[in-house]
Amino acid sequence: MAKTLVFLEHHEGAIAKGSLGVLTKAAKNGGDVAGVLVGSDVRALAEAAGAHGAATVWVADDASVAAPLPQPRVDVLARLVRDEGFDTVLFAQSVLAADVAAGLAARLDAGLNWGLVDFDGETGKAPQLSDTVYVDVGWSSAVKLAVFRAGAFDAEPSGGSADVKDAAVELEDFSTLATMVEQAHAEQQGPSIEDADVIVAGGRGLGEPEKFSLAEELAQALGGAVAATRAVVDAGWYPYSAQVGQTGKTVSPKLYVALGISGAIQHKVGMQGSNVIVAINKDPNAPIFEFADLGVVGDLHQIVPKLTELVRARRA
Ligand SMILES: Cc1cc2nc3c(=O)[nH]c(=O)nc-3n(C[C@H](O)[C@H](O)[C@H](O)COP(=O)(O)OP(=O)(O)OC[C@H]3O[C@@H](n4cnc5c(N)ncnc54)[C@H](O)[C@@H]3O)c2cc1C
Repeated sequence: MAKTLVFLEHHEGAIAKGSLGVLTKAAKNGGDVAGVLVGSDVRALAEAAGAHGAATVWVADDASVAAPLPQPRVDVLARLVRDEGFDTVLFAQSVLAADVAAGLAARLDAGLNWGLVDFDGETGKAPQLSDTVYVDVGWSSAVKLAVFRAGAFDAEPSGGSADVKDAAVELEDFSTLATMVEQAHAEQQGPSIEDADVIVAGGRGLGEPEKFSLAEELAQALGGAVAATRAVVDAGWYPYSAQVGQTGKTVSPKLYVALGISGAIQHKVGMQGSNVIVAINKDPNAPIFEFADLGVVGDLHQIVPKLTELVRARRA
């Protein structure tokens, strides 16, 4: 029987939605599915993991692993894989997960497949060539490691509960050499673009940085997050962390509203997995209309404030 371990990333007292989505998928694939929580004061989060399909949650709860640094997490996971005989370790894409997965692959001499959007327990699905084809990928190593794209799987509670067990925190000397001096968070209201069901994205068509308030107000009304194209990020209109596309993040929300975005291929590859794409653009020949589900040709400065009002009125 397959033995799968899911790395459960957590922020501000909650397991990241992406990790719960991967856990949900692992549980659907079947076999022996466990989660691992590493941090300080994280034991209480095990309940949510149990509710999303983990039969066991390994908890490494220790002050020495409080900071979100990768190497101590590699130590904890490597020991678990060796001691408990896990043959599969799954991660939801994030900066931390990327470092932990890469470190674990090196430590275990295991194969790591990256940017997957599906997995049946044996074979993964990876979009390639700017997402124009899907490739089936496998592993030749004894332990399979996989990192999934943001939003690849929905987190669905199944109502179960997990056995909570302690995982050993025995760190290698070299893993304690890095210390976290400071951690800064970008000011953000509402969900991150990786976690949001609704994304309102702004492009150069907004005209000036201050007009991002149009995207922010619509996103707030819809309970979503704000994303941006590279053109506006490069121009300093919005933070890099909000960039969607080939050199930014890949997102797949339920709804993606594109405001003043032309729909260049490098932007498209980061958002074409969205369930419903709505585009507002004044140019009827803008490429985004070729793949939008709903297109509105017009001036966003006229349309968006009215749309926001409508959404607010509906919600009220
Ligand atoms: C190697 C490489 C990597 C790249 N990576 C990325 C990436 O990760 N993400 C990314 O986004 N881009 C990326 N790009 C850049 C990409 O090619 C495009 O230049 C960029 O996406 C365009 O951004 P935009 O749609 O905001 O701007 P534009 O292409 O300038 O489009 C602006 C749109 O706004 C519309 N508009 C203007 N005024 C209004 C109005 N009042 N109302 C309604 N619509 C209006 C226009 O009709 C136009 O379609 C990359 C490029 C390269 C070469």
